[in-house]
Amino acid sequence: MGLKISEEEFRRIMESGKRVDGRAWDELRPIKIRIGVTERAEGSALFEMGKTRVLCVVRGPMECIPSHIADPERAILDVAYRMATFSTEERKSPTPSRREIELSKIIREALEPALFLEEYPRMMIKVYCLVLQADAGTRTASINAASLALAHAGIPMRDLVTSVAVGYCYGKIVVDLCSVEDELCADVPIAMMPSYRKITLLQADHRLPIDRLPEILEIGTKAIDKIYQLQKRALREMYATTTREITGGE
Ligand code: UDP
Repeated sequence: MGLKISEEEFRRIMESGKRVDGRAWDELRPIKIRIGVTERAEGSALFEMGKTRVLCVVRGPMECIPSHIADPERAILDVAYRMATFSTEERKSPTPSRREIELSKIIREALEPALFLEEYPRMMIKVYCLVLQADAGTRTASINAASLALAHAGIPMRDLVTSVAVGYCYGKIVVDLCSVEDELCADVPIAMMPSYRKITLLQADHRLPIDRLPEILEIGTKAIDKIYQLQKRALREMYATTTREITGGE
């Protein structure tokens, strides 16, 4: 999304000790989760962080198509991250961009450690992440939505995978970047299996002082713990509703 303020104005706001959208340094954007948004797939989830909104749909485990790519040792996790043509200010071309192909791989690598793919030789699990509205953090929202959709599909997992981006701007560390921060700060997306404290994604898109990395990880982990609680609550509520539907509330 296009920058709404100048770099000088942004710097002035940050140096005065504030964030452009008025949040505290460690404050997440409002999060909304909905699990089970389509009956046509085994698993689905909608994940919103501020104005960023991602729908994730999971199919499988199913027969591997095309069969010649089947792995006799494990299931293939096939992830497609796409931005809807209407998700950005300027119409996004429907042709998958290099960025979308790269993010599909990154999201797959962030999810794989949580799955028991070796339990499903020659099968395929398809994860489709569609960005409905983009306003920074679409890869992190996609990972959060995907792990919920995988759980909703009943696919055994070691843990959920939870993700947030941490930014480094003018010496300050900020959590869950908004679009202006995403354009002007060093952006460090992190994904983790929170119960194991196992990092499954760590990127940095600009230079940042390496000695601040432990602090960035500590702040990111605290934010991830908050999102993890919301993910687990959403799953518990979904199972409670399903149980009520099955038992008629008895
Ligand atoms: N963006 C866009 N069009 C694009 C790619 C990105 O408008 O083709 C915007 C979108 O708001 C996205 C943000 O730029 O969330 C930052 O993109 P980035 O590549 O840093 O990934 P993200 O932060 O979404 O994971």
